[in-house]
Order: sequence, then structure tokens, then C-alpha cells
Amino acid sequence: MVPNANDSYEHPRKRLFILLLGVACGLVLSLSFLLWWVPSVGLDTIHPMLPVVFGLILGSGALLIIGGLSLLILTLLTGRDLFMLQGLRKIVVKYLFPGIIAMGRLFGIDRDLLQQSFIALNNQLVHTKRLRVPAEKTLILLPHCIQLFDCAIKITGDVDQCIRCGKCDIKGLLELAQRYGIDMAVATGGTLARKIIVEKRPRLIVAVACERDLTSGIRDSYPLPVIGVLNKRPHGPCFNTEILLPEVEQALAAYVIPKTA
Ligand code: SF4
Repeated sequence: MVPNANDSYEHPRKRLFILLLGVACGLVLSLSFLLWWVPSVGLDTIHPMLPVVFGLILGSGALLIIGGLSLLILTLLTGRDLFMLQGLRKIVVKYLFPGIIAMGRLFGIDRDLLQQSFIALNNQLVHTKRLRVPAEKTLILLPHCIQLFDCAIKITGDVDQCIRCGKCDIKGLLELAQRYGIDMAVATGGTLARKIIVEKRPRLIVAVACERDLTSGIRDSYPLPVIGVLNKRPHGPCFNTEILLPEVEQALAAYVIPKTA
């Protein structure tokens, strides 16, 4: 049985985003009403049908947005892929998500918290697709800061250069990738990450990074499914970061068909 990676290795941040989605629905409704009501008082004096026409146009727009948000909420609550149209999913992931993050910022919610919520939701959306991807078509993408700062070996470009001394998590990740027969790459930034993705053409990415990089990476890579795993930063950002190997392993076990020898 495929383990449910979704709930086990993610922070319980989904509720925050679902709450914000609900608030967004309420805001869209109120705003639409105001946008209709205020000018319709004047429109009525031009022609009695004008407020109705204006209301229909505005109502359709509001219905579209609320429909998208509701589908997203239902997808998240039921764990089923309810998006029948790829275009609708794109609108939600590419445009509504950042809108919700901006709204959360307006309410004074911590950016990291919002991005963690975005990543958790993205992972759940990927989970609803019930993917099983061959190891050859999967890529583990890591940030450079996971490598020990003092390590003299250059592993960007070829992670197999690592001699597996065990002073950083690269060793454990390499062993994991080898066990599954998965390609692993280290990127120093978004540009290199994009280049690696274009070259390797994976069908699934398990990406390890901080909140900011994962959020932009997930959005940039769309429609490619990305499972985001947050790194740990005991020494501060971008320096000797760490990873909980079981979190990566759970993601692989849930979505990857290991390569047979
Ligand atoms: S495991 Fe050792 S050799 Fe490999 S990258 Fe880390 S510090 Fe360098």
C-alpha cells in the first residue's frame, strides 16, 4: 500500500491557508456586492436594465473566483482531485495562491508561516493526483547550503564527487537516492535549478529548500509536480542546513517506483 506521505511529513499549516481561502471568498462576495450596488444607483437613472446587466457581469466574475476557491477548499478537505480542468488548477496555483499570501501579509501573518502553508497545500494537491513515477523520471533537487560549508569537494554539477564522509546530509541523501535509483542534483540558485530541470526532464521533483525557494520553485515549475520538503536551519539561513532524511524517504516511498537492478 502506498503510504500517505501527505500528513506525515508536513507541518500542520494547511488549516491556515484554508481559513484564508474562506476569508477570500467572503471578501470577493462583499466586494462584488459593493461594486454592483454603488454604481447601480447611478446606472438606474440611465436605464432600469443597466444595474441588472452590470450585476450579471460582476456576478459571473465573482462566481468564477469563488468557484475556484471552493474547489480548492474541497480538494484540500477531501483529498481528492476535483479539478477537472487543468486551466483552472493553473489559475489557482499560479495566481490565487500568491493573492492569498498577499492577503495573509495584510493581516500581519508571518511570511514563513504563509509559505509553509503554501508548500503543505501544494504537497496535498500533488498527493491528490495519486502519482507513481518511475525512479528514472524522478529528481531530488537540493540547495547548495546542505553541503558542509568547509567541504573542499565541489558537488554542484556532479553530486557523486562527494566521498560520503558523513559530515553533512549529502551522504545520507546520496545513499537514499542510490537505493531508489533516483537522480540527485544540487543547485546554487533558481537559474541553475531551472537548467537542471530542463536537462533532466523529470516527471516528479522532490525538492528540499527553505520556504522562499520552495515557494518560488513550485510556482516556476508548474505544471511539473513538486513535493516540497523544508530544510532545517540550526546555524541560520543558507549555512550548513540540514534535512530530516525520513521526510525525504517518505515522499519517495509514496510516489516513486524504485528502479529494479
Ligand atoms: S558528506 Fe562529506 S564529502 Fe560529502 S559533501 Fe558532505 S562534507 Fe563533503
